[in-house]
Amino acid sequence: MTEEERLAKNNKIREKGKETRLRRQSQNCRVFRVKIDFSHLNEFEKTQLKMIFVEAKWLYNDVLTFSKSNEINEYDDKITIIKGLDKDKQPVTRELENLSSQMRQSVIQGVKHNIKSLSAMKKHGRKIGNLKYKSNYESINLQQYGKTYKFCDKKHIKIQGIKRPIKIEGAEQFFDISELEFANAKLLNLPDAYYVAVTTFQNKGDETKKYKPEIGIDMGIKTSITTSEGQKIKVFVGETKRLKKIQHRIAKKKKGSSNRYKLRKLLRREYQKLDNRKKDKANKIVHELLEHEKIYMQDENLSGWHKGLFGKNIQHSALGIIKAKLMKNKRVVVLPKNVATTKTCPKCGRINKDITLSDRIFECQCGYKEDRDIHAARNMILLSKMNKNTCGTQEIFYPNAFGEDVRRKHEQKCCNADLVELGSPNFYKRG
Ligand SMILES: [Zn+2]
Repeated sequence: MTEEERLAKNNKIREKGKETRLRRQSQNCRVFRVKIDFSHLNEFEKTQLKMIFVEAKWLYNDVLTFSKSNEINEYDDKITIIKGLDKDKQPVTRELENLSSQMRQSVIQGVKHNIKSLSAMKKHGRKIGNLKYKSNYESINLQQYGKTYKFCDKKHIKIQGIKRPIKIEGAEQFFDISELEFANAKLLNLPDAYYVAVTTFQNKGDETKKYKPEIGIDMGIKTSITTSEGQKIKVFVGETKRLKKIQHRIAKKKKGSSNRYKLRKLLRREYQKLDNRKKDKANKIVHELLEHEKIYMQDENLSGWHKGLFGKNIQHSALGIIKAKLMKNKRVVVLPKNVATTKTCPKCGRINKDITLSDRIFECQCGYKEDRDIHAARNMILLSKMNKNTCGTQEIFYPNAFGEDVRRKHEQKCCNADLVELGSPNFYKRG
């Protein structure tokens, strides 16, 4: 390629990126996950899928070693033979047979990206350590739809480097949506199975959708979510008996033994399943809540609850996922932590300081009485409307040209709601 051709090509890529970014502004981003049906693969394909991640690990670690004494941009990205050490510290050479060229690129890009973000953190005065070698590679980027991966039909996906299309489960959730645009995907090696997480974009529909009236939600430990309409939603996902059994068996095995290692693998798989169930529950609840025109909530400190009395309850609840998902949405108004949503009386405006966690009924001297959680949920709406500046901040995610979510700074947002007077009759007419 001549210098001129190279510049022309770069220019074309840049233009294309600009175009995509512009288009993305009028689109919604959603990520779907499909599960690879491992049992339908033949022995060769099973090994191949496994080896893709092993080779990615070798490559990652090799690039990392290289970067310690060289400029990382000088790393030969066409490399196929890698020198390393086996588990007895003996030198070995390994061949990359299953990693496609695009996958190789994405692994190298991964190291570059990690180094870059570390140095950015250092620049901002954060304490940083060294990048660690990986013992397990979990996620490989499939950059381009149509090239690195492609859906053949509802049940099959083609992945670069693997000859036959692979059987998948779960594509029904998005396959029939019209005008869905596929961006990049990630091949995931999770403890319970292999997955492909696909990033998709869809044009924002017309904004005339009929929403249900606004709603306030209170997150609590006991019933977990209470709405201003009086509904109580349980978000607890219990441990399975099998999980407890495995934990029990591990405790009896000797440290470092291969039996213990096997059991720990099983345990990771059980936790992954638990996680999947949590996510599923969270998705359903969030979907339900977002049917409302506006959702008012408080930026509660869930991680504080982790440490306290309710650790186990919180650990097995989908509350954290729900909160994170809600906070990404524009129609959600977030009250800061320090607003006294439980203690404020909506009728007279008194702040009842002596109310404790065990009081399940809120009672005020003025005669107002209500279930504590429902009361708090209703106050979310009321107190948000009282002060325009209490809307809080929200973390906003923007997709880049490749459809990946890029985290940006917290942005101040405001609900622009009409101000209401405390204790005004407007509020308690509903629900
Ligand atoms: Zn009162």
